[in-house]
Amino acid sequence: MASKPQVGVLALQGDVDEHIAALERAGATARAVKTRAALDASDALVIPGGESTTVMKLLDRFALVDPLRARVRAGMPLWGTCMGMIVMARAVAGLEQPTLGLLDVSVRRNAFGRQNDSAEVDLAIPAIGEKPFPAIFIRAPWIESAAADVEVLASFGGHGVMVRQGSLLGTSFHPELTADPRVHRYFLEMLAP
Ligand code: GLN
Repeated sequence: MASKPQVGVLALQGDVDEHIAALERAGATARAVKTRAALDASDALVIPGGESTTVMKLLDRFALVDPLRARVRAGMPLWGTCMGMIVMARAVAGLEQPTLGLLDVSVRRNAFGRQNDSAEVDLAIPAIGEKPFPAIFIRAPWIESAAADVEVLASFGGHGVMVRQGSLLGTSFHPELTADPRVHRYFLEMLAP
């Protein structure tokens, strides 16, 4: 791998620029990914927040579903934030929504309800250090159920909101919207050989 990892941010819809800036601050080279060629040139990929049914349709239209699954199965690290985690999941609880089926969890969309549409929470994430992380939730999903080899790195209100399964990372919240670089750094460490 080159001295700085090249991280792609899927740029079909959603908060792409914020992730690119946060990845660069955390020490990577980052760029928008819209094509198979750009995916092939990336050492890792982030799927940002947005609207999960729209992005799944666009992945299909841009012929990226199979290449993305193949890269991940070959070990490419993948991190989904909010909508991204929904797209990565095996299933969406209570809905017949197509997903990539990569992260072995079932997620519940818009799980925190309308009252808690958007919130900032001091979240304990021991894997990134003692200091709580300022986690921003926006119409966020939670983990409804997970396979035995899925590690729950953080929970909120009794539900998993940050999970890892090997080279796959999912967060219900949006680390790209805060100045704290620790979750982006944690993801970049997953790229280390
Ligand atoms: N509610 C959106 C969905 O279910 C996700 C929201 C987000 O990514 N901020 O697709």
